[in-house]
Parts: sequence; C-alpha cells; structure tokens
Amino acid sequence: MDSATWATVNRLVDWLDTHSTHTPETARLLRVLKIQEEAGEVAEAIHGAMNGNPRKGQSKTWSDVEAELCDVILTGMVALATLSSDPARTFDTHLSHVAERSLPGETACTPSSTSSTTPNTPSTMSARTQAST
Ligand SMILES: [Mg+2]
Repeated sequence: MDSATWATVNRLVDWLDTHSTHTPETARLLRVLKIQEEAGEVAEAIHGAMNGNPRKGQSKTWSDVEAELCDVILTGMVALATLSSDPARTFDTHLSHVAERSLPGETACTPSSTSSTTPNTPSTMSARTQAST
C-alpha cells in the first residue's frame, strides 16, 4: 500500500477527530465497531446480489459487494490509524508475517515506514484523538 493511501486515511482520522463529540476512548471503540457494521453491509449486498430474499429480488449487484468490501477495508484502516502511531508499518509488518506463513521464501512487502511500531496506549494514544476533545 502506498504512502498516499495512508496519508488520506490519516486525513480522514484527523477529520473524524475534529468532528467527534465523544471521548477519545469512545471514539476508538466506535471506529472499531464500525468495521462490523460495514461487514454486515457486505452480507446484505451479497444477499441482494444473489437474490437471497425473494420478496426483494436481486436488489444489489456484485459491484455493490465490492464497494461494501472497500468500506470494510477503509474502516479497518481508519481504526488502525486511530490505534497505531504508525499504521502503515503496523500493517506492513502484519502482512509480512501472514504472507510468511502461507508463502514461505517469498517477500510479500517491505515496511514502508521507518518509525517505531510502538502501539498506542491510553497514555500515548492518538494525539489527534486526544486533541479533539
Ligand atoms: Mg458500507
């Protein structure tokens, strides 16, 4: 994933922080829960694309399913960027570990960032989120 993608995600997190009316802890929780909401929309779109409910008929397309999958990915990235001080590195490191399990001997990716992977804790968490309250 390129740095422009994460830059956009970080700008979205900043925007969410700026407009949040919740405490940083609640905002974090809501962003993680949003992933499940979007996953439910994927299931709904699949039902619609596969005529799962005869009363509704084919109410969705596979393009709708793709869009909902993108929402799941994006909300996951936003949640990760809220929790991690370096979400790009966190993701790249995780992807490398997963790829090593299934693709031994292949290099899946190189971490795109050089800063530490220190996880955010309540004391170090998201200066952006902290500043928004
Ligand atoms: Mg959606």
